[in-house]
Amino acid sequence: MDSTDTIFAPATAAGRAGVAVVRLSGPGVRTAMRALGIVEPPPRRLRRAVFHVKSTGEIIDDGLVAFFPAPRSYTGEDIAEFHVHGGRAVMAAMLEALSRVPGLRLAEPGEFTRRAFLNGKLDLAAAEGIADLVAAETAAQRRQALRQLGGELGRLTESWRDRLIRSLARLEAAIDFPEEDLPAELERTVRAEAAALADEIGRHLADAHRGEILREGLSVAIVGPPNVGKSSLLNALARREAAIVSATAGTTRDIIELHLDLGGWPLVLADTAGIRATDDPVEAEGVRRAKTRAKTADLKLVVVEAGAAEAQLAELGAIAEKDAVIVANKSDLGDFSKLPSEAIAISATTGAGLASLIERLQQEAEKRLAGGAAAPLVTRARHRAALEEAVSALRRAEGAQEAELVAEDLRLAARALGRVAGRVDVEDLLDIIFREFCIGK
Ligand code: GDP
Repeated sequence: MDSTDTIFAPATAAGRAGVAVVRLSGPGVRTAMRALGIVEPPPRRLRRAVFHVKSTGEIIDDGLVAFFPAPRSYTGEDIAEFHVHGGRAVMAAMLEALSRVPGLRLAEPGEFTRRAFLNGKLDLAAAEGIADLVAAETAAQRRQALRQLGGELGRLTESWRDRLIRSLARLEAAIDFPEEDLPAELERTVRAEAAALADEIGRHLADAHRGEILREGLSVAIVGPPNVGKSSLLNALARREAAIVSATAGTTRDIIELHLDLGGWPLVLADTAGIRATDDPVEAEGVRRAKTRAKTADLKLVVVEAGAAEAQLAELGAIAEKDAVIVANKSDLGDFSKLPSEAIAISATTGAGLASLIERLQQEAEKRLAGGAAAPLVTRARHRAALEEAVSALRRAEGAQEAELVAEDLRLAARALGRVAGRVDVEDLLDIIFREFCIGK
């Protein structure tokens, strides 16, 4: 992939719409505008443009153009946006005309943001924030993505890395210039700093995975014996809940997923196979998957029949015990066995009790996602892995005997932290800091 290529792609979704936008980035943007017969507009102003194929004179569309000269653009390169009417034929003609301009090619997925990252317009964590914002389905997800896009995570990890590299530089100086006899005090200070930083990062990691769960949606598994109305409940919720985002087939053939927006909180509801003892190998596989899903879910909707609740719950055992909301379905049959006090009686058929169930689900989501005062910082497993690695390197540094080993662990911690924002050039930074020190000169 040559970064001197000029790339173009539709910036709006496919299909009919009032307006569609094509975005171009790279050194050939001016050439492309000329090729489509457009006069270069003043920077960052929207101007009318009649796009046409230069060679034949055929008009593609009558629209608008905006030009963002480098470096003040999203990617840091020259960017143009062509606003045209949002029709399939218009977009097809536009893409066709652009692909005929020498030096232009269709962009790869994410390539605009990739260039923005490579040109230092945003760090890796912020780039992930953009992806999350585009994928956000609920208000809480949108807010979290915006925060990350704002660079909070990147700034914090960079400030930690900066602190670390300063300690490291002092320590390396002591190692490299032993004749200067830097005090043993220094090693103690560096160890204490490592410990303090490990504590600080550790506090951010102790967030009950709220950021990651919010990004993915709270995973809720509908579990229970066969024929109690699990699918009916999923369908009833699908019909009832106006803010359904999407229904997709799950990762396994027999698990159906439904994305819900409950008061801004995202839920991913999964219907699973009925749990019972069986000799049928196909069914047994379904049961195994259902149990796995129940284990990994953040919350379980345990569905039983109102008339047989006691026996069915006993049969389900541990599944119905932790992180579970007990739902007694078929309440319309009017045949109540001894219901546990916390059970919510509903009828998937008549809709009775569904409102209470939805309310309860929303409370459960809020309990797990709203959390404490501070917004969680970690939104992806990638961030968590890097921060955990940094913490364990810092803990090792804290306890290491030799100054060289302390330095090595600090370097590993700095590298792990640098990965969050996408910076791995610890050595470069050391160079800069060493120059600042003027040691030996
Ligand atoms: P699943 O196997 O647990 O997914 O159960 P289904 O949703 O397929 O439902 C099993 C049977 O129970 C079907 O015949 C449904 O029509 C019926 N059923 C589901 N919910 C209710 C309910 O609330 N009341 C009554 N009377 N029947 C229901």
